[in-house]
Amino acid sequence: MRLILLGPPASGKGTQAAFLCERLGVPKISTGDMLRAAKAAGTPLGLEAQRYMSLGQLVPDEVVIGLVSERLEDEDAKKGFILDGFPRTVPQADALKALLESKSAPLDCVLQIDVARELLVERATLRRTDKRTGQIYHLKYSPPPPDAELEHRADDREETVIKRLDEYDAMTAALLPYYGQAGLLHRVDGVGKPQEVTARIAASLKLEA
Ligand code: AMP
Repeated sequence: MRLILLGPPASGKGTQAAFLCERLGVPKISTGDMLRAAKAAGTPLGLEAQRYMSLGQLVPDEVVIGLVSERLEDEDAKKGFILDGFPRTVPQADALKALLESKSAPLDCVLQIDVARELLVERATLRRTDKRTGQIYHLKYSPPPPDAELEHRADDREETVIKRLDEYDAMTAALLPYYGQAGLLHRVDGVGKPQEVTARIAASLKLEA
């Protein structure tokens, strides 16, 4: 299964991607995670990306396209993948299409998780990650255990979240008609408990719940 997960920041893409990877036995390829890892490792690419990420802006297309095309060469991606956070612009989608055509491995489906904007701001600003396990919590809806070592992503602060949502509306929303016209788009309501959203995704993709 070659699948793209689309959805605005804090729509639950990361959480649902983890479920889908396990279910489908394919890796999750998250450009946000790859960029954060590059930043943590202090590579030149990571430092360049950080300039954009801290402002809530998109990293230039050629940087993320390069990262994804390299990652898709890895052995584990040959049996399929879940792309989380990529593509985010039409040029990225065009580049992905060309890349997959060159491998004769077209996309199977694009899943958009829909959540209203007001909820997204609350979700992102109250989202915390346990640095030891990578597990994501929400201070109100999914509180962490007392021993968690919590981190708040710098780009989850309110003013940055609002900029990221504006970026999403300006650039990424264009991917809905793009994949709709290609007959690949599934849309799922992302409001509710993570397990409820998972069940909707499973039904939409006709996977066992
Ligand atoms: P995410 O974890 O997917 O929300 O990504 C965090 C940040 O990384 C974004 O706000 C962007 O600055 C950058 N980023 C991640 N994926 C992409 C992409 N496909 N294109 C451009 N920038 C990206």
